[in-house]
Amino acid sequence: MDTTPLLPASVRRVREEPLRGLPVLVHGEWRHAFPWLLQGTTTRGAARRPFDLGLFSAGSARHEVLRNWEMLREATGARRVVHARQVHGAQVHVHTGASVAVLGDVGEEALSLSSDADGHVTLEPGLLLGVTTADCVPVFVVDPVRRAVAVLHAGWRGVAAGVLERGLALLERDLGSRRSDLLVHLGPAICGRCYEVGAEVFDALGEAAPPRPTPIDVRAVLARRAVADGITPRHVTVSEHCTRCTGSALFSHRGGDAQRQVGYVGMRVDELAP
Ligand SMILES: [Zn+2]
Repeated sequence: MDTTPLLPASVRRVREEPLRGLPVLVHGEWRHAFPWLLQGTTTRGAARRPFDLGLFSAGSARHEVLRNWEMLREATGARRVVHARQVHGAQVHVHTGASVAVLGDVGEEALSLSSDADGHVTLEPGLLLGVTTADCVPVFVVDPVRRAVAVLHAGWRGVAAGVLERGLALLERDLGSRRSDLLVHLGPAICGRCYEVGAEVFDALGEAAPPRPTPIDVRAVLARRAVADGITPRHVTVSEHCTRCTGSALFSHRGGDAQRQVGYVGMRVDELAP
């Protein structure tokens, strides 16, 4: 079946690789090129103990979800994890040094919650930024020159609200990134064959609306928007993993899962750490 729209020229599809020891898929090229970078998307984990990071969804018990966040923090070597309730909007928080914009910590864990937001940006090593998804797109942005990072939660509503453009603008305005240095990866999400939607979604995304429900490739929409917003096309990569059809052990809202995976990004305090 045809899916719309197509990827811009020079944008590449990549297949993230599983990490050993933790149920996570990582961008292999980035892992190789940037040893200081922490980046990945978690997967389902063991059937009996799902690796559910959904603090605001109706999946696992809260103490299990908190345990999983702590497991992720410990495995990545991050000092603190920052997360927020997501509202399918374009609010993105900048977390700088001592002024981590948080509401408070959760339980005994080194997990801080900021006010509602669909994205986080930082240049602070040791801070792990996370967004949860289960079909929506985790968007990863890395500035290897400034060493700044961002992660964004982008479903069709967030894309239409401009969450991608907001995240890129904050990297430039608040953290001094140059647009030409930014790398953008559109992570594991529901694909353009599986995500059938109505005309209202095409309308909201500025695409020609077909007469009947039709699959749409939200990552291709994001790739086009990234390029239109000044990102170099060869700096944009798109995950081949789908939450429904590629057997990638990911949670899928459309597939009936109440659990959530997390897309995370950060920088190592000690870049020689494992
Ligand atoms: Zn699919």
